This record gives sequence, C-alpha cells and structure tokens, in this order.
Amino acid sequence: MTESIRMNVVKGVDEMKALSRGLKREGKTIAFVPTMGALHEGHLTLMAEGKKRADALVASVFVNPAQFGPGEDYKKYTRDTEGDLDKMRRTGVDVAFFPVPEEIYPPGFQTYVEVTELEKPLCGASRHGHFRGVATVVLKLFNIVKPDVALFGRKDYQQLLVIKRMVRDLDLDVEIVGMPIVREASGLAMSSRNAYLSEEQKARACSLSKALGEIKRKFDGGERDASALLESGKRVLSDSSAGEIDYLEIRNGDTLEEVKLASPGDVAALAVKVGRARLIDNIEL
Ligand code: AMP
Repeated sequence: MTESIRMNVVKGVDEMKALSRGLKREGKTIAFVPTMGALHEGHLTLMAEGKKRADALVASVFVNPAQFGPGEDYKKYTRDTEGDLDKMRRTGVDVAFFPVPEEIYPPGFQTYVEVTELEKPLCGASRHGHFRGVATVVLKLFNIVKPDVALFGRKDYQQLLVIKRMVRDLDLDVEIVGMPIVREASGLAMSSRNAYLSEEQKARACSLSKALGEIKRKFDGGERDASALLESGKRVLSDSSAGEIDYLEIRNGDTLEEVKLASPGDVAALAVKVGRARLIDNIEL
C-alpha cells in the first residue's frame, strides 16, 4: 500500500466543502468511503479500492447518532481516533474527515430522507428509524464531500440497497460501488462490533457464516423451498448456541421482497445477538 505523503485531517464541514470544491476546480475526481471508525480490514479494502477509482480519496469517521435507537450502543460504540488515523494514513487516504455531531445536526435540524419500502424489512423491522438515519447522514456527507464515486460494503446489504435507491430516486450524481464482505479466517464477517465479543463468543459467532454457507450449499444442491433452506440455517445456529436470532430470511436481492421459492440473485440475511453484539451477515444465492 502506498503511503499518503500528507493526509489532510479535517473536522469542520465548511473546511471539507472548500477542500472538495478546490479538488473539483483542479479537475480532480473524488472517491469517498464513509465509516463509523474502529477501522478494520473491511473498511480498508473499501478505501484501497477508492484509491484506485479516483484522483483523491476522502474517508470519513462519524458515529451517527441518528441511526442508533434508544438503548442501542451509540455511547459504547468503539472510538479509536489515533488508530483510525494511522490506518487511514497507511491506506493512502488523502482527506480524513471527522465531523462532530453538533455540526452535522445543528440545533433546529428537522430534515430527513426516507427510502420508504427498502427500509422496512430485516434490520429496519427491529431498528426503527435506523435507515432514515443512515440515508440522511449519507446524503449530507455526499453534499459536503461531493464524491464522484462512493464505496460501501455488501456486509450491510440492506444499507447498500437503500443508498443505491436514494441515489437513483434523488438523481444524485455519484456512482455507488458495492464491495465484497471481508471475513476473518474463521468466516466471521469483520465488524467493529466484533470487539464486543469474548473469545468464546467469537467462536460461537462463526456459526453465522456457517449457517449462511449451509443455506447456499443446499441452494446450490437444488433446494429452492425458502422454508427448508432457512430451517437448515437455523439448525446450524441452534446446534452451536450462536445466540438470539433477530431474523434469518431469504429475500429478493433487489427489492428485499419475501420469497417462498428462492432463485439466483436472492439474498439470505441474518442478524443474531451474540452477547451484547448484534451481528449481521448475508450471502447472495
Ligand atoms: P461501518 O463503519 O460499520 O458503518 O462501515 C462502514 C463501511 O464499511 C460500510 O459500507 C460497511 O458495509 C463497510 N464494511 C464494514 N464491515 C465490512 C466487511 N467486513 N467487509 C466489507 N465491508 C465492510
């Protein structure tokens, strides 16, 4: 990985806007990777790809209060500014944007974006208002950073669809790139929330990807009945006492509509609470 000669660290929204305007004036293209920090290899893969796709790479770290519900882990979410800056520098980030909540949501803030249908199922069903918070902050960040291309992980599959829909519906001039899920050797999808897990919980959490793998194996073997596929996944989860299942579903990979018979392009997705970590993962069939 190339090291950025000098990474700009920016906190202020106006300063970030001015920097992006300057880059555009020079005819430079901008790639953007929004994150909530506690960076891991999953985030860094997005950044490395962004580096290839534009002249300048902007990455943001913002733990967005609007996408956390009451009782969720907003306050406890891992913050590691120094570690994040170091990783961003080593990945070649040109501008590290660390806005503060008071500037993103100034007093009197009252405008939100809702992607009405895609935000309803899966994570939206148990995290009310989550995707409204995500869509709103991503649109704000797009307006501030003015990227030509923005990169998101397929780990947050529903989020990726919500953002693509918003970009299409609101005619935003940005290309959205969805990147493959980066996993630990054990199969566990990398996540900032994995830091909440003890070693024993981590071992149990591996069964999430195993359950999805089992569904895919049965699908590839010709099984199409969604309930039968889901049963095989649930068995893996219960055999390993993975934790409390929030959902395990197979849905259309574009619309997230329920399917009774699975077909290629559908997605099997789950959320499971392991200890105090609510973990999500998915596999495309
Ligand atoms: P987060 O910091 O969790 O909000 O994630 C920021 C971005 O990184 C989102 O687009 C995520 O989908 C992506 N991301 C997080 N974990 C992974 C992973 N294991 N593999 C690929 N992308 C990821």
